[in-house]
Amino acid sequence: MALAVFSSSTVSSSSFFSRHGSSTGPKASHIDCFRNLDVTNLTQRRTLVKPINAEPQRKDSIVPLAATIVAPEVTEKEKEDEDFDELARSLENASPLEIMDKALEKFGTDIGIAFSGAEDVALIEYAHLTGRPYRVFSLDTGRLNPETYRLFDAVEKHYGIHIEYMFPDSIEVQALVRTKGLFSFYEDGHQECCRVRKVRPLRRALKGLRAWITGQRKDQSPGTRSEVPVVQVDPAFEGMDGGVGSLVKWNPVANVKGNDIWNFLRTMNVPVNSLHSQGYVSIGCEPCTRPVLPGQHEREGRWWWEDAKAKECGLHKGNIKQEDAENLDGNKNGVDDANGTATVADIFNTKNVVNLSRTGIENLAKLENRQEPWLVVLYAPWCRFCQAMDESYVDLADKLAGSGVKVGKFRADGEQKEFAKSELELGSFPTILFFPKHSSHPIKYPSEKRDVDSLMAFVNAFR
Ligand code: SF4
Repeated sequence: MALAVFSSSTVSSSSFFSRHGSSTGPKASHIDCFRNLDVTNLTQRRTLVKPINAEPQRKDSIVPLAATIVAPEVTEKEKEDEDFDELARSLENASPLEIMDKALEKFGTDIGIAFSGAEDVALIEYAHLTGRPYRVFSLDTGRLNPETYRLFDAVEKHYGIHIEYMFPDSIEVQALVRTKGLFSFYEDGHQECCRVRKVRPLRRALKGLRAWITGQRKDQSPGTRSEVPVVQVDPAFEGMDGGVGSLVKWNPVANVKGNDIWNFLRTMNVPVNSLHSQGYVSIGCEPCTRPVLPGQHEREGRWWWEDAKAKECGLHKGNIKQEDAENLDGNKNGVDDANGTATVADIFNTKNVVNLSRTGIENLAKLENRQEPWLVVLYAPWCRFCQAMDESYVDLADKLAGSGVKVGKFRADGEQKEFAKSELELGSFPTILFFPKHSSHPIKYPSEKRDVDSLMAFVNAFR
C-alpha cells in the first residue's frame, strides 16, 4: 500500500485521498508533469524503503536534526563520485515528480526542501505525492509579509508537517539595524541585509544537509536562471561533509513554466499565498517585494530599484556567472594592462555626448548654479548593461541636442571607481545621474528601463 510510508506526515492515507478527490491515487492523467512517471512502479519501489520518522519535533532545528537523526535505509546510497552533470542530462525531460522522487530516494533525510512561501509550495506537493518522507525548511527573515506567515501555518496543517524555520543571528541583525537603519537596502543595495537575514541562515541550514531542493525555474529570471539544470553540484554552498562539491542542489521545476506550476497548484488544491491574488508573483520580504503589472516580468517585483542582473539575494548566487558577478562588483573585466584600462572599444560615441574627465565631472558636481542641466552616465565600456543601452543613450543625446540639456558620460571603472562610488552614488554600472540647473545634488535615474522614451520621461520631469 503506497501510502503506508507517509511517515513525514500526520495526514492519513484516507484523508490524503479525500483531499485529492480520488480513492485510487493521484489523478496522473490530469497533470502533464506526471507524463513520464509510472505510478505503479513508484509504489512498488517505495515499499523497498523502510519508513522512517523523519519529521522533526518543533523544538528541533535543522542543524541538530541532521546531525543526530539515524540515517535512512535507502535502496540507493549516494555515491561520492556521482556525475551530476550526466544525471541532470538524463533527467532533463523527466517530470518534476520523477525528479523529486529521485532526489528523495537518493538522499533520504539528508535533503531538505527550501520553501519560500510562494508558488514553490508545489515542491511540497510533489514530495507529498512521492510517498517518501521529506523535510521542509524556510528562512524567516523577520521581514516577511503576514500573508506568508499564514501560508506557512496553512501548509503545516495541510500536509501535517512541521517546517524547520531558520532565523538570522540576532546580534548581526541588531548591528545592521542599529548602524544603518531598517531600510538600508534601498540606499546601498540589498546584499548586506540579505547576507545577514537569508544567506547566513541558509548556510547554517545547508551545513546540516547533503542536498537541497529549490523551486528555481528557468523562466523566472532570464538574466540569472536561464541555465538552471534539474540537478547540480551546488556551486556556492557546502553541505555537512564540508568543502566544494559536498552539497547537491535539485531544481525539479527548472523546466516548468510558471503557468504550468499554477495549473498544477489549482488542480491539486494546494494552499497558496494570498498575496498572489493581489498581483504579487515572486514573493520575498515585504519591503523588497511588490506586485507587478500584467506583462511585467515577475522579477521586476523584486529589488526593483536595482539592476536586473543583481536580482539574486545570494541564495542562488551560483547562477551569476563569474564574468557577470565581477561586473556587478564593479571589478575589471576585459582588462589587461596594469593600469586597469580596458581594451574593449568605448561606447556612447556621438558628438552629442560629452566625454567628461575626472576634473570635468568634479566641477559639474560642485556647481550650485549651472547654466544648463546635465544628464551623465557613469559607465564601463566592458559592462554588458552599458553596452545594451549604447544605442538608446546615443539616440537620446541626439534628440536632446540643442534642447538646453547637455548629455555626458564618465568612465567610472578602474581607478575612478572609488571616487564614483563615494561622490557620485555609483552602485552598479550603468548609473545615470541628472544634474539639475539650480541644485548641486544629482538625481539618480531609478529604473532599469533604459529605452529612449523612459530616459526622456526622466529628463522631462526635471529639466
Ligand atoms: Fe533584507 Fe530585503 Fe533581502 Fe529581505 S529581501 S533580507 S528585507 S534586503
